[in-house]
Amino acid sequence: MRSIRELPLEGKRLFLRVDFNVPLQDGRVGDATRIVQTLPTIRHAMERGARILCASHLGKPGGMRRPGLSLAPVAVELAARLGRPVRFVEDCVGPEVEKLAGTLGTGEVLLLENLRFHAGEEGNDPEFARRLAALAEVYVNDAFGAAHRAHASVAGAAGLFSEKGAGLLLEKEVRELSRLLDPERPFAAILGGAKISGKIDTLRALSRRADLLLIGGGMANHFVSALGLSVGRSLLEEDSVPLAREILDFCKREGKTIALPSDFVVASSPGDAAGARTVGITKIPEDAMALDVGQKTLEQFERLLEPVRTIFWNGPMGVFEKPPFDRGTKALAMLLAESSAVTVVGGGESVAAAREAGVADRFTHVSTGGGASLEFLTGGTLPGIEALG
Ligand code: ADP
Ligand code: MG
Repeated sequence: MRSIRELPLEGKRLFLRVDFNVPLQDGRVGDATRIVQTLPTIRHAMERGARILCASHLGKPGGMRRPGLSLAPVAVELAARLGRPVRFVEDCVGPEVEKLAGTLGTGEVLLLENLRFHAGEEGNDPEFARRLAALAEVYVNDAFGAAHRAHASVAGAAGLFSEKGAGLLLEKEVRELSRLLDPERPFAAILGGAKISGKIDTLRALSRRADLLLIGGGMANHFVSALGLSVGRSLLEEDSVPLAREILDFCKREGKTIALPSDFVVASSPGDAAGARTVGITKIPEDAMALDVGQKTLEQFERLLEPVRTIFWNGPMGVFEKPPFDRGTKALAMLLAESSAVTVVGGGESVAAAREAGVADRFTHVSTGGGASLEFLTGGTLPGIEALG
């Protein structure tokens, strides 16, 4: 995989796939984090004299033009952040876009309309990919958060360029996450969160790659249930309990340590802060929900992590959006921030929790891609990386 720094850019039309999938509020950009993260790559291309076409998806328009999901507000925000004008065109392929692309001066930026207004984007349609590729001479992908999807702008179009490479953000993600594929050992994976069925492959892969698995959050309920214990009214995807059983058996066979919470903070619902109390793993009441890990669990996790050299964390330890059920997650974030191991956090909510705890900058790496970082750790590569050759 080549880096944008090795590509010929001077005077060239550059198709730059970015992740501008930002939240909008009242027709304006609500949180510009993803735009800000792409600025170094855009500035690099500007300084090197490229004619830059930025392309992104936004939300899920389902292959139709949906005015509420236009990237027009992003063009305004991007211009403000760059301190330079940004042109915007109301489509991402076609004669008008080609004409505009042809008139771009060196160092100028044009933002194309939402790629997903065309069904060909998510379908990786070859004809749509060809129309995208017709716009430029050089291809760069800096959209790590979209690199796990084999969509036209990520996969098909990239395949049609001979000059192509990774933007600075994608390059950094691949470098940092690759350290987890050949980690300094012992290597611990800490898994929590709620989306169990969406993380099956990741759970299997990490149980093989890691020396030590620490399980918390909604994820832990499935393991508690697999042990034949009651989880009361806690979050539970029944279909995923056999997977938890499989992982427990695998770790036993392989002599790997898998640590479940020894205590939980339970209540009648996430809104029931007053009812919060701590119980042991065998004592989750039938009418209660496990909403966080307890203090004993945190102490146990701290001990287990002591000798560890590399740590990957995905998934909050509890319903961290609702105090007091944020304690386990925040304490874990603090613990990792203070660790001398290589620490990597990935996942939308996990990263948000680390930021809320004010310690995100003390991690070795905070991944910008939720699904993408998990898929990279599962398979060791991604469609968008493969497409760069
Ligand atoms: P990430 O985005 O970091 O990959 P997930 O999307 O899998 O994480 O899960 C995040 C969600 O998990 C949070 O909204 C949090 O409230 C929820 N969660 C964590 N622990 C529990 C629990 N014990 N019960 C219910 N929900 C939980
Ligand atoms: Mg999430």
